[in-house]
Amino acid sequence: MIALVTQLSDQDNQYWLSLFQAIILDEKVLLLSQMSEQDKQKCDIAILANPRFSDIEQLPNLSWAHSLWAGVESLVEPMGKLGLPLVKLTDPKLSLAMAEAVLAWSLYLHRDMHKYAKQQSQKSWHQIEYIEPQNRHISILGLGALGQKAAKVLKEQGFNVSGWSYSKKRLENIACYHGQDGLQAMLKDTHILVCLLPLTSDTQDLINKDLIDLLPRGAQIINFARGGIVNDKDLFNALDSGKLDHAVLDVFAQEPLPSNSAFWKHEKITVLPHISAQTNPTSASKIVASNIANYRKTGLIPDGVNAKKGY
Ligand code: NAP
Repeated sequence: MIALVTQLSDQDNQYWLSLFQAIILDEKVLLLSQMSEQDKQKCDIAILANPRFSDIEQLPNLSWAHSLWAGVESLVEPMGKLGLPLVKLTDPKLSLAMAEAVLAWSLYLHRDMHKYAKQQSQKSWHQIEYIEPQNRHISILGLGALGQKAAKVLKEQGFNVSGWSYSKKRLENIACYHGQDGLQAMLKDTHILVCLLPLTSDTQDLINKDLIDLLPRGAQIINFARGGIVNDKDLFNALDSGKLDHAVLDVFAQEPLPSNSAFWKHEKITVLPHISAQTNPTSASKIVASNIANYRKTGLIPDGVNAKKGY
């Protein structure tokens, strides 16, 4: 017995349910609201999308849970408290969509589109010096499922690409760094810094004044991970002082972004409504169903979130 535990709209719930019920044929997949007390007792796997903690607690015999999202920061602590393994979504389609977004917005900054848009509004005819991609250094914070694909796609486009991760990595044609020394070494000649880290106690506020100070003057930032990784006050100060040239932000500490937020109006900030890579229901439901089928066959829970590391 499998429960779909979400706070999505009724329409979205029905859509996800229909996808799972079409693939998982040999057992029941039900919304929590459709389950009897007996069903809840029998349920050993939960599929989660922004669930209420109290809803997960209604399932006393869970063995593990699968998130429909790649970002699981809000689930790590509650699932850890319940002692339940949590598996996050890893989907090549999601990585591809994110890599496309990283490429698109890197090109936006690389080809000075933000500056030409401003010049047009001022009727200013000024040609900015062209920089070849191999001379543009793009660094990625986080070399996981999303960061590695983005690094590869940027490299294929001819950029000079580096990446930073928790553990040491080797990736073809990508300069890989780890640790604090590695971070400093990478940042010192970075033109565009792309954040694809998970939000954890270690990465909260990581992009703050100290980190920004390590970047060259005029660097640019793309945050497609989570808002809490950037210190907003330090970011505004760096943009206002000219230390940073521009920031493209898809994620914010508070979402949706409130109408009175200073982000909307800042001329050096591009605001996106958390769209860089959305879960693809068709591919995601197949991946989750396949992980569950494999567990039913082998009894092995798929590799999941490390509760200590927080991702
Ligand atoms: P992932 O596969 O878990 O990769 C995370 C990467 O970050 C790994 O390379 C990891 O290093 C590195 N890392 C974590 N903590 C670190 C630290 N303290 N210092 C240095 N490196 C650290 O995650 P993912 O699937 O690529 O997703 C990344 C994040 O993207 C998600 O957590 C989510 O918040 C965000 N996201 C955003 C959107 C959107 O639409 N905006 C969509 C999907 C996901 P190791 O490799 O050494 O472990």
